[in-house]
Amino acid sequence: MKATILCPECRNLVSYNSHFGAYFCTQCKWEDKSSGRQRTERQALLHKFRAGEKMTRKEIEEAITKCT
Ligand SMILES: [Zn+2]
Repeated sequence: MKATILCPECRNLVSYNSHFGAYFCTQCKWEDKSSGRQRTERQALLHKFRAGEKMTRKEIEEAITKCT
């Protein structure tokens, strides 16, 4: 299933990311949290990872583990 929406922040075309279970804008990092409520913890970690923020090794491992 493929769907695209318009990012409310930067008007970039955002496609549904099954990996995150939500819409994720790669341009401004906006994400639709409403569609992935149950995965917020994992999302937060992955979001941090994607944003290039400093993460502890444990956090990165956690993000990867929860991904599978
Ligand atoms: Zn955007």
